Amino acid sequence: MNGYIDVHCHLTGDEFDEIGGITAVLNRAKENGVERVICSGFDLASSTIAKNLAEQYENVYFCAGFHPSELNKYREGDLEEIRALCMHEKCVAVGEIGLDYHFDDNPPKEVQRDLFYRQLLLAHEEGLPVVLHSRDAAQETLQFLQEHKGLLKRGGLMHCYSYSPEMTTDFMALGLSFSFGGPCTWKNGKKAQECIQRIPAHLLLSETDCPYLTPAPYRGAFPNEPKNVKYVVDHMAELLNENVEALKKQLWQNAKTLFFKLK
Ligand SMILES: [Zn+2]
Repeated sequence: MNGYIDVHCHLTGDEFDEIGGITAVLNRAKENGVERVICSGFDLASSTIAKNLAEQYENVYFCAGFHPSELNKYREGDLEEIRALCMHEKCVAVGEIGLDYHFDDNPPKEVQRDLFYRQLLLAHEEGLPVVLHSRDAAQETLQFLQEHKGLLKRGGLMHCYSYSPEMTTDFMALGLSFSFGGPCTWKNGKKAQECIQRIPAHLLLSETDCPYLTPAPYRGAFPNEPKNVKYVVDHMAELLNENVEALKKQLWQNAKTLFFKLK
């Protein structure tokens, strides 16, 4: 594979209607050399739509899971439906899951930790890696993962990594990879840029997290879309003083290694 890969995006909302709809978005991705996109679920409904997209479009894969901020929608039994989605041939991970202590009205910490644990366990039982979301919960996430290290045998991804360069060492010790999106292209993206230079190349991945976090030179534009992962990777190459083509190959290898169901 010689193209770009967007390992984390959200294509299940209606944000894309105003820019031609999902087919147009995926065509533009292809025209811009983005060969694969991994559409992330954040609750049962979005995980199911992500599966439908993966069935409809060859270049789309997906992950299924409950985002910590979305747990007020969780109903007992939903995890069994997530498990069924995980068995799909194009479901590459359980995600996005984790801890989000950013907003005061986020679900209670105990509820977040409980569902985080149960989804780690699910990933372990299904033999899948995890895609991790962690916001304003650096130490808590690290400690939690250290306590449950045994459930991370298939690895995992710190998606849109936004913590300190120093902490990458601790997350690496857990066998985790790191993906970066728009923020590493921004003028105030110093922290992410330092991380990219510090993390070994075989643990790096590229994403958009669209519809949010549009990279430079289009920062602020909404919605962001997978074709823009190009700006992220090109900027990463610059930071690494690496040839773009070589980096694209490396990122594809990294994605295949972590998300082993990816073809
Ligand atoms: Zn996301």
